[in-house]
Amino acid sequence: SDQASAQNSVEGQSQIQQDASNHILHPFVDNHALKNKGARIMSKADGVYVWDDQGKRYLDAFAGLWCVNLGYGRKELIDAASKQMATLPYYNLFFNTSTPPTVQLAKAIAEIAPEHMNNVFFTGSGSEANDTVFRMVRRYWDVKGQPTKKIIIGRHNGYHGSTVAGTSLGGMKPMHKQGDLPIQGIEHIRQPYWFDEGEDLSPDAFGLIAAKALEEKILEVGADNVAAFIAEPVQGAGGVIIPPATYWPEIQRITDKYNILLVVDEVICGFGRTGNWFGCDTFNIKADLMPIAKGLSSGYLPIGGVIISDRVAEVLKSEESGDFLHGFTYSGHPTCAAVALENIRILKDEKIIENIQQNTGPYLAEQLQTLADHPLVGEVRTLGMLGAIELVQDKATRKRYPGNGKVGSICRDHALDQGLILRATGDTMLLSPPLVITKEEIDSIIKATKIALDNTLKDMQ
Ligand code: PMP
Repeated sequence: SDQASAQNSVEGQSQIQQDASNHILHPFVDNHALKNKGARIMSKADGVYVWDDQGKRYLDAFAGLWCVNLGYGRKELIDAASKQMATLPYYNLFFNTSTPPTVQLAKAIAEIAPEHMNNVFFTGSGSEANDTVFRMVRRYWDVKGQPTKKIIIGRHNGYHGSTVAGTSLGGMKPMHKQGDLPIQGIEHIRQPYWFDEGEDLSPDAFGLIAAKALEEKILEVGADNVAAFIAEPVQGAGGVIIPPATYWPEIQRITDKYNILLVVDEVICGFGRTGNWFGCDTFNIKADLMPIAKGLSSGYLPIGGVIISDRVAEVLKSEESGDFLHGFTYSGHPTCAAVALENIRILKDEKIIENIQQNTGPYLAEQLQTLADHPLVGEVRTLGMLGAIELVQDKATRKRYPGNGKVGSICRDHALDQGLILRATGDTMLLSPPLVITKEEIDSIIKATKIALDNTLKDMQ
């Protein structure tokens, strides 16, 4: 209505900024504050760079939202989409049907996934993948004749999406407050966040304690009632939290011992982010289910899924199983599948993951580490093409500034001024650049981050 557009006409804002706040309710944003500030309008991109509508260029060290792994403007992906659109833009996987790109994609995923994983259930997003997980693990135990196994254990500060099951499986307390979540049958344990919670313990000792919390929870609620444990290999949205080396082997031991399905959320880590095809490869985890999305198509089109181990697939494909009453209109969308297939081909042919392992990954680690001496920096972490910088008031004690997230957002804004997109989770600066980033572009990130840190320190003084 005209009333809506008349509501907000802020001086100094362009028409499109005003239209954005008048007609869009933006996700994960204070929409009132956005009205006054005006949205940043991103209007084009190429390689690792994006431009806003004022012509300002930014190096996107966050790959959109952890997803534009091949960088922007890849002609092969554009061509794959347009070719498939002209041939068969859409068909579904319901009612005994499949489509060629979707079948080829499932086969390509099975080839790069760990040996024991050869099936995929397709979704439109990572959240839908985790809603699928929620239903799939319960269905699995039902068909196996163990219907009491229903509880799914997640972690505080884990992130598994924003739908009802995704939010519930995740452990973001402010999200839980909106919508009376989590839903029934979901429990949470502590996270392996040594920097904030490890106190005087060594990271390895702390990692074991954090993993043993799973065993304690299983014993508390009864193994016969537990269906699955879900976790990200490296917590992404929570703050690029790389668990101590002792963590995952102990989690694996516990899930094996109590016969609990292990769900490893690969939505961020999958398709090269940690320097291997999957986070499970990096940490040597044997998962039962792996939700995927984001890097599957480098974010060019929305597609996700759940990679399924043979032991789960056998049960869900058994005679007793019957119809699995689950799926989405866009499950296995052929155009999205064609783009994902081409994305995987490029990752392979251009040896992009090998390059991270041997070349750009170690370089990012070494260069980012040069910032560890900065008075604001309490720790620098990297793994593959993931990075985190912890901002603190006191380096020795790892004490945070008051204001919970204030210094982080100041630093993020200073980075933007320098033409660099970083993300802040609380007072942790996060990096997740496109996997194709070059050493020279990494140098630009380091240079701009250093200036942003200096300017932040000035503000804090
Ligand atoms: N799982 C993880 C680990 C994620 O990081 C995300 C998105 N940031 C999701 C699930 C949800 O994915 P989507 O936003 O595509 O629904």
